[in-house]
Amino acid sequence: MVRTEQDIKLEKKVSQTILASQQTPAVGEAGHTGEWRTKRPILHTEKCLVVKTGKLTCNLCWLYCPENTVSRSIPPKFNYDYCKGCGICATECPAHAIEMISEKEAPSCEGNEGGN
Ligand code: SF4
Ligand code: SF4
Repeated sequence: MVRTEQDIKLEKKVSQTILASQQTPAVGEAGHTGEWRTKRPILHTEKCLVVKTGKLTCNLCWLYCPENTVSRSIPPKFNYDYCKGCGICATECPAHAIEMISEKEAPSCEGNEGGN
C-alpha cells in the first residue's frame, strides 16, 4: 500500500509522542468489564497505520488506553475482558480506524478480538 506524505508526517508525530510518554498502566484497572460495558471498540484494519505500513509506527490506541487493554501488535487487538468501552482509543486514533459500537450490535464472540 502506498504511503502518502501525510501518512509519513503523521507517523513521525506519533512516534515522537510515544517516545515522550512513560505511561505504564496495569491491565484491567477497572476490573472485569465484559458484563457492564455498553460500547466496544472495533478496528477498521484498512485504515490503521500500523497495518498499512506493516510497522509499529503508531499504536496511539495502545498508548492512550487507560486500561492497557490494547495490544501493541499488527493489527492492534482489544482485550474485551477488560476494555471498559470509554472510547479514548477511538478519539485518539489519528486515522479514524477505531469505531465504537454498541454491545447490542457487537458480534457474539467475546475477548481478544481485533475487530473487522
Ligand atoms: S488503530 Fe489508530 S491509533 Fe491504533 S495503531 Fe491503528 S492508526 Fe494508530
Ligand atoms: S474503549 Fe479503548 S481506550 Fe477505552 S478501555 Fe477499551 S480499548 Fe481502552
